[in-house]
Formats: sequence, structure tokens, C-alpha cells
Amino acid sequence: MNNIKCCNDIKVKCSKCGSETTVAGSDLAFEEVERNSKKMGPEIHHAAEWSGACAHCNEPVVLKADVWEYPVGAINDIQTSVEGGSLERDLNTEIQSDDDNEEEG
Ligand SMILES: [Zn+2]
Repeated sequence: MNNIKCCNDIKVKCSKCGSETTVAGSDLAFEEVERNSKKMGPEIHHAAEWSGACAHCNEPVVLKADVWEYPVGAINDIQTSVEGGSLERDLNTEIQSDDDNEEEG
């Protein structure tokens, strides 16, 4: 079982006042939402959502991220959408495998 982790901070620009709000990558919790069987094994669709507000004007901002893992262990595609703003800095994701903890510590 692999987990998708967002390893950078994301910046979203408020559509109302134009201010940037930073979303910590650790605030995005990816969950498996879909799994399809394909030639090279399963294609796993992971999704995460962050609901917050503009740090300046408090306008609601919702960031959604979808990541497709295929083949297992590789990120095939990333799609993001922002409600109430636009994405200023894209997210950088990596796959963490539960089986491989050698790099820890
Ligand atoms: Zn704003």
C-alpha cells in the first residue's frame, strides 16, 4: 500500500482580493478513491481536499488535488482545481511506500 504525500507548500491566489494564501503540503491528506485494473496492474486514483479561507479577506477557498498512480509506485497524472481562487504554485507529490522505511531517520 502506497501513500501519496504532498511535499511542498502550495500557494493559492484569492479571486476576490488577489492575496496569496499558503497551504501546507502536510494539510493535504490523500485517500484512495478509485482503483481500475489495467495492463500493468491497478491504476489508483488518490484525492485530497483542503477547505480554508483567504488569509487576507477571509473569502472561502477550496483546493482539490487528484493524483493517479500507475503503474503502482509511479505518479502518472496530477490534476488540481481551486474554488475561490487560482493556483499560484503547483503541488509537488511523492509516493511513500509502507514497505520501505529505510530512508527514515
Ligand atoms: Zn482574499
